[in-house]
Amino acid sequence: MSDKIYSYGKQIIEDDDIAVVVETLKGDWLTQGPSVSKFEEVLSKQLGTKYCTVTANGTASLHLMAIGLGWQPNEVIITSPITFLASANCAMYVNSIPDFADINPITYTIDPLEVEKRLHFHKKKNRKVRAIVGVDFAGHPCDWSALKEIADLNNLQLINDHCHAIGSVYNGDSHFASKYADAVNLSFHPVKHLTSGEGGAIVTRHEWLDKKVKILRTHGMTKDPALLSRYDGLWYYEMVELGFNYRITDFQCALGVSQLAKLNRFLDARKKIAMYYDKAFSSDHRFVIPEVQQGCTHAYHIYALRIKFSELKISKKIFFERLRSKRIFCQVHYIPVHLQPYYRTHFGFNEGDYPIAEQFYSEEVSIPCYPGLSETDLEYIVETIRAEAV
Ligand SMILES: *Cc1c(COP(=O)(O)O)cnc(C)c1O
Repeated sequence: MSDKIYSYGKQIIEDDDIAVVVETLKGDWLTQGPSVSKFEEVLSKQLGTKYCTVTANGTASLHLMAIGLGWQPNEVIITSPITFLASANCAMYVNSIPDFADINPITYTIDPLEVEKRLHFHKKKNRKVRAIVGVDFAGHPCDWSALKEIADLNNLQLINDHCHAIGSVYNGDSHFASKYADAVNLSFHPVKHLTSGEGGAIVTRHEWLDKKVKILRTHGMTKDPALLSRYDGLWYYEMVELGFNYRITDFQCALGVSQLAKLNRFLDARKKIAMYYDKAFSSDHRFVIPEVQQGCTHAYHIYALRIKFSELKISKKIFFERLRSKRIFCQVHYIPVHLQPYYRTHFGFNEGDYPIAEQFYSEEVSIPCYPGLSETDLEYIVETIRAEAV
C-alpha cells in the first residue's frame, strides 16, 4: 500500500530550478543582486504592467502597499471575509480599520452590492472608507468592473490581493489585475502557483507608488539624488521614510524567475485536475463544483469543492478525520476572518454578520490540487471522497 500523503497544495521544484539557485549561490550576490531586478522585470511582463517590487513575502507587500497608498488611522478598508488573514490585517498595521463585505454565492469573491451596503453604513456613521481589497479567491477574478465603478464613484483605492490568481483571465483580458487595481499583491509561498520559498510582490501601474514601496522595502533609505537634501559623497544616503527590511534574497528571486517560466505548464496541469474533479463531482447533488464566469479563466490555486454536509450522515469534522486517515489532507479556505477571536474582540464582529461567507465556510473543502498529481492519484482521491461522503 502506498504511504503517499496528499495535501491540498504543494510546490514542484525541478532540477533546473535547483541548478539556478546553486549557480546564484556561487555568484557575487546573495541579496540585492541582478536576480531581484530580473524577477521584477519578468513579473511586470507577466502582469502586463510597468512596475514591480519584490518583497520578503505577500504579507510584507500588503503592509508596504498600505503605507505607500497613504492609509490613515481610522480610515476603513473593506475586504472579503473569505480570505487569508493578511488581506484584512494589513489595514491594522497602519491603524486603519478592517471591515468586510459578504461574498457572491457563486464566485465566492467580494460582492459589489454588499460593498455598496457597507459604504452606506459607514457614511451614516461619518467614517471615511479609503480602499477596497478584492481577493481573486481560489483563482477566480472578482467582479472588477463593478468594483472599479464603485471605487471611482466614491473616490476609493482598489487593491487586488491576487495571490491565488496569477495567470487568470477576466473579461478576456489576462492583464486585468493592475488595470483595475491601483496595486496588486502576489505571494510566492510554496502552496502558490510559483514559489521562491517565501516571497511576495507589489505590481502597479503607478510609478509614484512603486518608488515609494521600493524605498520602504529597505529602511526608507535612498541614494536617489533627486530625493537627497544634500550630498556628502559616494557613501551618502538619507532616510526619508520609516521603512523596514522587507527584502528578498537574490537566490530566491533566481528560483522565482525559473518557476515563472513554467507558469503556463503549471496552470494547464491545475486546469486538467480541476476538469477531472468537475466531471467526477458534478453529477452528484451533494457536491457543488466551482463555477467559472463568462470571459474568465480560473487559475485553480485552490479547488474549492462544496459539500452539502446537511444532506450527509457525517459531519464535516468527521469527514476530515476520515480523509486524513486515508492520507488525504484537505483544508478549508477560509475560516471567515471576522469570526477570528481577535476580530470579534477588537471590532465586535459576530456570527451572522456575513451569512453567505459563513454558509460557504460550513461547506467548503479544498481538495488536493497541484501539478504533481497523476491520474492514479486523482482516481484515488475521488474514490475516497465519494466513499467517505455518506
Ligand atoms: C498567501 C496569501 C497571502 C500572504 O502571503 P505570504 O507570502 O504567505 O505572506 C495574502 N493573501 C492571500 C489571499 C494569500 O493567499
